[in-house]
Amino acid sequence: MGDSISQNLKQLKSEISHNVTLVAVSKTKPKEAVLEAYAIGHRIFGENKVQEMTQKWEELPRDIQWHMIGHLQTNKVKYIAPYVSMIHSLDRVKLANEIDRQGARYRRVIDCLIQIKIAKEEEKFGFEPNEALTFLEQLRTNPMPNINIRGVMGMATFTPDSEQIKHEFSLLKTFFDQNKSAHNLEILSMGMSGDYPLALELGSNMIRVGSAIFGSRLPH
Ligand SMILES: *Cc1c(COP(=O)(O)O)cnc(C)c1O
Repeated sequence: MGDSISQNLKQLKSEISHNVTLVAVSKTKPKEAVLEAYAIGHRIFGENKVQEMTQKWEELPRDIQWHMIGHLQTNKVKYIAPYVSMIHSLDRVKLANEIDRQGARYRRVIDCLIQIKIAKEEEKFGFEPNEALTFLEQLRTNPMPNINIRGVMGMATFTPDSEQIKHEFSLLKTFFDQNKSAHNLEILSMGMSGDYPLALELGSNMIRVGSAIFGSRLPH
């Protein structure tokens, strides 16, 4: 890792192919950090807390695309609905209903990814693959006009065991391949600082990278 945000970002961009979207995860970092990445042309940033993302949206340039990547409480959707560019963490039907409702209120169609649980860890959120499929099929008969499901997102178990990570990413890639044409899925969001090379090997086209760009976060 280099010693500045712009160096880290340039290095990372040089490693990834042009058809891979990089979400720079700026959670816990000050707006100056976002501006350093912005200054070299980066526009897509990820946050996991509604309040922090909304504050940055208010204070930073309006052409930034804000991606919500963290667990989202239903009662907080209203704060991000006016501006959020993509929600990666659509993990339950009740949340989808609320995003659709708030999208209608702001006359927006909100891009979402279905979060699928691939990790063994108990605390990771997401639909089971079969539940995600049921949800996609329900949307055919009961469309939610203010949501656009663009693809799927998943997080692998936090482990040094690369075989396990590969196995979990393969589960998501298989789900994506099996359902992309029937449900118009284009985005496969998988890979973070510790595992994005594996994710790219396994077909990811959107990675969410924080600490490898902005440096490590203090535990909080
Ligand atoms: C924090 C976070 C990331 C980025 O994590 P790093 O290890 O810092 O790259 C990616 N995705 C989600 C859902 C996150 O919460």
